[in-house]
Amino acid sequence: MQHLVDTNDLSDKQIEAILADAFAFKHKNPPPFLENKIMVNLFFEDSTRTRTSFEIAAKRLGMGVINLNPSSSSTNKGETLEDTFANISAMDPDCVVIRHKDNNVARNLSAMNLSRVLNAGAGNYAHPTQALLDYMTLVEHFGDIRGKTIAIVGDIISSRVASSAIRLLRRMGMNILLVGPKAFLPPISFVGDALPQYKKLEDVIDKVDAIMSLRAQIERHEKPVFKDYSHYGHKYCITQEVLKGRNILIMHPGPVMRNIDISDEVLQDSRCKVLTQVTNGLYMRMAILKNLILDS
Ligand code: ASP
Repeated sequence: MQHLVDTNDLSDKQIEAILADAFAFKHKNPPPFLENKIMVNLFFEDSTRTRTSFEIAAKRLGMGVINLNPSSSSTNKGETLEDTFANISAMDPDCVVIRHKDNNVARNLSAMNLSRVLNAGAGNYAHPTQALLDYMTLVEHFGDIRGKTIAIVGDIISSRVASSAIRLLRRMGMNILLVGPKAFLPPISFVGDALPQYKKLEDVIDKVDAIMSLRAQIERHEKPVFKDYSHYGHKYCITQEVLKGRNILIMHPGPVMRNIDISDEVLQDSRCKVLTQVTNGLYMRMAILKNLILDS
């Protein structure tokens, strides 16, 4: 039984096959490969895109989808998460998609090996399907991404999108620069070797092919980092004045804090791929479901 907790769970060959399927599905919707299969969504943290995307992906492939609401499930009556998972698994779903604020929950449940676990966001540790859809978006635009440079801008230390992207995009040969105020930059030991860190967007703007802007993960901060995020926005918002005519791809996993992360104007610009990422996420999740449930 293959789980997807982190992109490192996938071999290069699997990533290649998943990417090829995602592009093929984007070109032409596939037949319902997963008819009669069941997916259970178990989201302990808020989600708009990821949960809907998993659900539509599953339905496009013919799966039945059960959305369990943790606030009305038995974890709320004192049942342990492991017992809830064991009980769901006893009904033999084909996968359980889980999002949790704890970095280790998805990994621990996958180790029980009772149901296939797909991680839809684990604390600040991993968001593998986001990394894969970001990878797809970059490959779709650049073709070969080896040697290209991406700046990740914002709350890197608290972001699972950043940590997953760093692991996957480095593996795929990209150069990664980290940009943000000190409080948002990780300690050097964060993900293996040190990555170059910058305090100012101006210092990287002429070095990059792509920018991944990130939202401040306010829900993960023990105490407020900034009282007023417009001050942060003055320095780190991706605006037309910052970009000028440069040919730089702009990405963001959403939700976007308008005019703090990315300006209204840049969100409308053809260099901005935020909605393309969402579209690609659907095909990428279809490809992941097919590969993990049918092919491995
Ligand atoms: N949607 C992404 C996540 O779940 C990014 C964010 O919330 O800022 O991590």
